[in-house]
Amino acid sequence: MAIYSDLGVPRIINAKGPSTRVSGGFLAPEVIAAMAEAATQCVDMAELQAAASRVIGRITGAEAGIVTTGAAAGLLLGTAACVAGLNPARMAQLPDVTGPQPEVIVVRSQRNAYDHAVRAAGVRLVEVGLPDRYAGAGVRDAEPWEIAAAITPATVAILYVDSSHSRPTLAEVVAVAHEHGLPVLVDAAAQLPPVSNLQALIAAGADLVAFSGGKAISGPQGSGILCGRRDLIMSAILQNLDLDLDWEHWNPPANLIDKHRLPGLPTHGLGRTCKVGKETLVGLLVALERFAAESDDSRQRRWLQTLDELCALVPEVAFSLRLETVPRLALALPHARQACFALQNGSPAVHIDPSELHLGKILINPTCLQTSDLPALANALREIMINSPA
Ligand SMILES: *Cc1c(COP(=O)(O)O)cnc(C)c1O
Repeated sequence: MAIYSDLGVPRIINAKGPSTRVSGGFLAPEVIAAMAEAATQCVDMAELQAAASRVIGRITGAEAGIVTTGAAAGLLLGTAACVAGLNPARMAQLPDVTGPQPEVIVVRSQRNAYDHAVRAAGVRLVEVGLPDRYAGAGVRDAEPWEIAAAITPATVAILYVDSSHSRPTLAEVVAVAHEHGLPVLVDAAAQLPPVSNLQALIAAGADLVAFSGGKAISGPQGSGILCGRRDLIMSAILQNLDLDLDWEHWNPPANLIDKHRLPGLPTHGLGRTCKVGKETLVGLLVALERFAAESDDSRQRRWLQTLDELCALVPEVAFSLRLETVPRLALALPHARQACFALQNGSPAVHIDPSELHLGKILINPTCLQTSDLPALANALREIMINSPA
């Protein structure tokens, strides 16, 4: 492979998982072929997003869906939709709207660095709840009544960051939100697998769900999905598409954009900053079909096989296997942090999952490893074992 060496950029071995910093994972040949084919012809982007909406709707159970440039872009577009609705004047104002600054309520323990994408739409995040269970001070977290008490006339949505330990449950948050006529926007960027989550969050009543395309779905690194309520998805795509044409000549696909609900044509929106290319869109759809068609068991078996093959190459290394949603190998080392640096500075550089370095462990995530990576990874691990003082 010459492309990276021609650019003078060394390749790395990605045992960390599909993080943006390490360029995500790799694409299946079918996804690459679809992207290459898509690159050779032009289409109307609104028609292509309308086709995407049909595929995403079928797979997620949502009324509509669009391909985005990532889950973060989905959060930006989804928030913009909650602020502007189908009002082109308000779309044009974003991120500064007249009147009180729009508010999005979020449980304090769910705050994270990715919610910058929500704030980028011009809203103020209003935190509720005291996460005692994280502070070690108790068992409680935010409660539904605290969300209800924070709702004001400026509230436009509730943000829910989904994970197995998120509290209150999504169903509880949806109940409060809908009682007050507010939408729930779910950040589910990394909540796949299980594959059932493609439908479960929508089924629990979420109005908008953002998934990352570059993580487990194994789509293009700069891709994602935003799916949910038809009117909100319509607002999101209106703020993302290039609409530089005349109202009379505009004939958008009816399953995605209902022209009759608009007083006129919106201008370039906030989401123009995260426009989606046709190749990315097609690649994501093919990857999504493949992801949805594979069972969690089959995926797990593939990943376990990769880890097995690695273990077989270095029988002297005492890994312990973690059977989690994504299985990982853990290796306890006396100087795990130094070992991590040594691996990163090796040739080829090896990036491991550093989330337990503070516990003296390096973790190997199989999802972005190819069989051809394994001998070099095994050598690098053998080397740090030899050089690691006992
Ligand atoms: C990865 C991640 C994102 C961002 O996803 P992209 O597809 O890279 O934009 C957002 N939120 C959470 C919780 C994530 O883990």
